[in-house]
Amino acid sequence: MKIGFIGLGNMGAPMAHNLAKAGHDVIGFDSQPRLVPMVTAAASLSDAVATADAVITMLPDGKIVQAVAATIIPSMTTGTSFIDCSTIDVQTAKKVAADARNAALMPLDAPVSGGTLGATGGTLTFMVGGQLEAFEKAVPLFDIMGSKSVHCGESGTGQVAKICNNMIAGATMIATCETIVLADKLGLDRQKLFDVVSTSSGNSWTMSSYCPAPGIGPKSPSDNDFLPGFACELMLKDLRLSQQAAEQVAADTPMGALACHLYQQFVEIEDGEGRDFSAMLRRFEGRRRHDDEN
Ligand code: NAD
Repeated sequence: MKIGFIGLGNMGAPMAHNLAKAGHDVIGFDSQPRLVPMVTAAASLSDAVATADAVITMLPDGKIVQAVAATIIPSMTTGTSFIDCSTIDVQTAKKVAADARNAALMPLDAPVSGGTLGATGGTLTFMVGGQLEAFEKAVPLFDIMGSKSVHCGESGTGQVAKICNNMIAGATMIATCETIVLADKLGLDRQKLFDVVSTSSGNSWTMSSYCPAPGIGPKSPSDNDFLPGFACELMLKDLRLSQQAAEQVAADTPMGALACHLYQQFVEIEDGEGRDFSAMLRRFEGRRRHDDEN
């Protein structure tokens, strides 16, 4: 297939490379000069999409996706798949999909989990919203870039799945970190805590697969001085998207709201920026019960 790939950053570059390695003819465009092996550089957005059978976007936020979509939709051929893999707000995802459908394109919102390691290794999970026919057409591409793709429902539901998952991961990471520090202060060995919790009702992915305590559990960013991994600012972005969505549908999400607040503090006024989201452990290690009241 001929694939136009827009947004060749930390995630997009390895995804585009994997498609090219699998034999597809990939034409890439980024607003910054970025060279990706085996990917032909296009001179403009329109050049990247004009003759493509499928167009994939991997961009920072909803505003940019909407602006790029407004430019490329008129240049795309009827019936072309338009797969947005960026993490963006649900409303924009629905609007972009409606605009694309009006132009007789096949839009999908297909955000991913798995981070840069998953993008490089071709093991991402795709959460996909849009018509089933469009999803089925795109599955061979998801199979190259990832190891799992789930059709979640109509347009926007891929983004819903992504922000719901990350709202759980953010809140659970905080619960895991504060628990580890409580156990420290009460004199319980971290390994013993892990041994008990990882097979008990307090278990979670953040404890058993991505433990924030260095040296405990499978290897994770905590064993690499909290280098991301999944950076705190990306978690904050997703938590903000989940709160924005919750507000729009009047859903009561107090844990998500608190997680968003704590990651915002951690990124903006503590030393969380640029660290993995599990570095939240350091925050709790450095605090006492009433620190916020002083
Ligand atoms: P990034 O900032 O590394 O890459 C984004 C790229 O888009 C950059 O190269 C930038 O120059 C380019 N860009 C910006 N505006 C453009 C425009 N108008 N036209 C063309 N190119 C433009 O970001 P990333 O880490 O690759 O993340 C991309 C998306 O994936 C985000 O929505 C992010 O939330 C999501 N995501 C990231 C991760 C991760 O671990 N990095 C994990 C899951 C999801």
